[in-house]
Amino acid sequence: MSAIRSITALSLALTTIGSIAQAKELVVYSARQDHLIQPVFDLYTEQTGVKINFITDKEAPLLARLQAEGKNTPADMLITVDAGNLWQAEQQGVLRAVKSDVIDKNIPAQYRADSGKWTGLSLRARTIVYSPERVDPAELSTYEALADDSWKGRLCLRTSKKVYNQSLTATMIETLGAEQTGEVIAGWVDNLATPVFPDDTALINAIDAGQCDVGIVNTYYFGRLQQSEPDLKAALFWPNQDGRGVHVNISGAGVTTHSKQPEEAIKLLEWMTTPAAQDVFAEVNQEFPANPDVKPSEEVAAWGEFKPDQINVEVAGRLQAEAIMLMDRQGWK
Ligand code: FE
Repeated sequence: MSAIRSITALSLALTTIGSIAQAKELVVYSARQDHLIQPVFDLYTEQTGVKINFITDKEAPLLARLQAEGKNTPADMLITVDAGNLWQAEQQGVLRAVKSDVIDKNIPAQYRADSGKWTGLSLRARTIVYSPERVDPAELSTYEALADDSWKGRLCLRTSKKVYNQSLTATMIETLGAEQTGEVIAGWVDNLATPVFPDDTALINAIDAGQCDVGIVNTYYFGRLQQSEPDLKAALFWPNQDGRGVHVNISGAGVTTHSKQPEEAIKLLEWMTTPAAQDVFAEVNQEFPANPDVKPSEEVAAWGEFKPDQINVEVAGRLQAEAIMLMDRQGWK
C-alpha cells in the first residue's frame, strides 16, 4: 500500500470516529499486507455491517506508532506475523488481555498467549527446502543434521536478522539447550554455500538455480513460487518427524490496550478464529488455518501431512534475545 493511501485511510478513520460516538467502525494496524487482510475484512463488513479501516506498514514503525500515540491511538487491533513480534508488542504494553471462550475453543493453547494479549490466526511451517535434482530426500532427516559435514558448501540460509530464524533458534534452545543449539548453528554456518539471503524467496530461487542444495524457509514462500513458476526445481521436506516435529509459527493479532471499543474489537478477533474467516485468512497466503477444525487449501494440503512441533510459540519471544546473541556468536550473519 502506498504511504498516501495509508494516511488517507487513517485520517478518514480518525474523522469518522471523532464524529460518531457509537460508530460501528474499527481501526486495524497491520503488518500483514493489504491483499492478505482486505478479503477478510470485506467479509466481516458484509456479514456485520462493521466497517474496518486499516493501515499497513512494517512491524517496527507500527509498534513505534502505537507507543507514540499512547491512549490517543485510533487503533483497535494490531495484526502481525511471528510469535516473536507479538510477544514484543505485549512487552511494550500496547495489547490488552482478552478473555474469550470462543478464542480458547477455536485456537490451540500453544498458538496464543497465556495472558490473552494475542492469538495466532494462521500457521506457517519453517521447514527444509531441497533440490530434487541433487538431493535424495532419504539423505534428509532433521534441522540438526544439516550441520553434518555431508552438507558442506551445500546449505543456504536467510539472514539471522529475520525474526523467523530467531524464533526457530529460540525453539531449538528451549528443546535442545543452548550448547547443542550453538553447535548446530556453528555447523550450519560452516556448511553455507553462499552469503545469507535477505529473504526466503531468494533462497528458494538459489536452490532452483543450482547455487545450493538445501535451505530452511517458510512454506508459503515456496507455495507462491510454485504458483508463479510451475517448473520450480525445489521441494519441501518435513524434518524431525521422529522427534519434536516441524517448527511452526503464527500470524496473529491482539486488541490494543487503548482501544475505545474493545468489545467490538474482541468480536472481530473472535470472528477471525471461526471457520468462515479462517478459510480466507489462511488461504490468501497459502498458510495453515490455526483453527484445527478448518482444512487447509488444496494447494497447501498437497504438500502432505506432517507432525508439527507442539512447543508453545511464546518461547519465540521469551528466548528471542538469547537466540540473537547465540546466532551472533556463531557467526550467522
Ligand atoms: Fe513472511
